[in-house]
Amino acid sequence: MNPIALIGAGPSGLAGARALSRAGIPFHGFEAGADVGGLWNIDNPRSTMYESAHLISSRTTTEFAEFPMRSTADYPSHRELLRYFGEYADEFGLREHYSFATRVTSVEPLPVADGETPGASGWRVIAIGPDGETSGDYSAVVLANGTLAEPNAPSFRGEFSGEILHTSAYKSPKVFDGRRVLIIGAGNSGCDIAVDAVHHAASVDLSVRRGYYFVPRYLFGRPSDTLNQGRPLPAPIKQFIDKRVLQAFTGDPVRFGFPKPDYRIYESHPIVNTLILNHLGQGDLRIVPDLDRFDGSTVHFSDGTSGEYDLVMLATGYHLDYPFVDREHLNWTAASPKLYLNMFPPSFNGLFVLGMIEASGIGWQGRAEQAELIAAYLAAQRDAPEAAAAFRSRADAAWPDLSGGYRYLGLERMSYYVNKDAYRRTVKKLLGTLPAASASKQTVSA
Ligand SMILES: Cc1cc2nc3c(=O)[nH]c(=O)nc-3n(C[C@H](O)[C@H](O)[C@H](O)COP(=O)(O)OP(=O)(O)OC[C@H]3O[C@@H](n4cnc5c(N)ncnc54)[C@H](O)[C@@H]3O)c2cc1C
Repeated sequence: MNPIALIGAGPSGLAGARALSRAGIPFHGFEAGADVGGLWNIDNPRSTMYESAHLISSRTTTEFAEFPMRSTADYPSHRELLRYFGEYADEFGLREHYSFATRVTSVEPLPVADGETPGASGWRVIAIGPDGETSGDYSAVVLANGTLAEPNAPSFRGEFSGEILHTSAYKSPKVFDGRRVLIIGAGNSGCDIAVDAVHHAASVDLSVRRGYYFVPRYLFGRPSDTLNQGRPLPAPIKQFIDKRVLQAFTGDPVRFGFPKPDYRIYESHPIVNTLILNHLGQGDLRIVPDLDRFDGSTVHFSDGTSGEYDLVMLATGYHLDYPFVDREHLNWTAASPKLYLNMFPPSFNGLFVLGMIEASGIGWQGRAEQAELIAAYLAAQRDAPEAAAAFRSRADAAWPDLSGGYRYLGLERMSYYVNKDAYRRTVKKLLGTLPAASASKQTVSA
């Protein structure tokens, strides 16, 4: 058996390295950045982190269960998180498996016999690193290269004479100094960055298409996502209760100029930020409608109003991107690969995707459980082929419902959204169908 290739040393890749080590599966990791930490390493050229960023989910619901964070902060900063991932890598001897500063440029199936699935003989991985281009053959490839690196930058009618930036390029609020700023999109990053901007900019407007639900960081004196853990309520009951709790704590965002949401709570990713509402209440920023067109420094909005701006910040999210592998091998359909449990191409071709989950509160532990399932499957392929075959045959039947009963909005970024409870329950159940991979701290080098 050739070793496995693992792409990425962010939280998902590290979870993959840990699970493969624990299962005694030889592997080699490739990381484009100089060290572990993924996008939490603000110095990683592909990082979309910014100076003011902190966890949005709380520490205890996010950390790896087997490795609690040495922090008392409920919502630690990106600097603390980078240190955490370094400590995690040290604790389990993960760095030694990686080539750093080494970017994978191509993942291609090795030649197969007629009628065989491409990938059945393994994969050739080409990478570029400090020693130039390298090529190696691997029996499987785990893709953990992240989901929030490739900007989704929509184009608009007309020409803007000021500066247009995507949040992926945003690092410091100094960029706002004295400028008239328009932020497009009020997702979690858009709201965080708008809060940064009010302290620096001449003016800040936030352009939104739809309404949002705003969750405070603390409810009843505790990090809000720590309430009701492990006892998920049925979707309609949770929606009924939480909508009223939010109304009691944050009031109605329509009062501050937001449109009324045309969907129910949790049918899109909630915004964990109430500072934005404080600043709206203080008159530090304004909500404006959807953008219609640019004309020099003027921006025209869909309701016929307009404004003058120096800087437009696109908080318009990211595309999934696996640029080094042909789309057909990942079973791409429309906005995202269609994968069994968001991990396994239905042809079981030896590619595995780790971290392609968007969910409220799934944390790194959710990613670690994905990694355990992939490692357990690979171990079963090696040690118990009949169990691996039975696992594959489940993917031929109807796929489990991972929505938790929520009807997610039909948006690109929701195309791989899951409900954390439904997802983790399903992954755990399937893990139980595979023989337990050996659990030790011992690591195996490729
Ligand atoms: C501002 C911000 C706040 C966030 N807050 C939270 C939060 O509170 N809770 C939460 O759970 N999540 C949060 N996230 C989501 C975040 O994506 C995850 O926490 C986590 O970083 C995902 O880990 P990952 O390993 O899948 O991806 P990443 O962290 O993106 O790591 C991917 C790694 O792959 C490497 N790579 C990419 N392409 C290649 C290649 N071709 N060759 C080799 N290496 C490659 C990259 O250099 C990178 O190191 C936040 C994200 C942002 C931007």
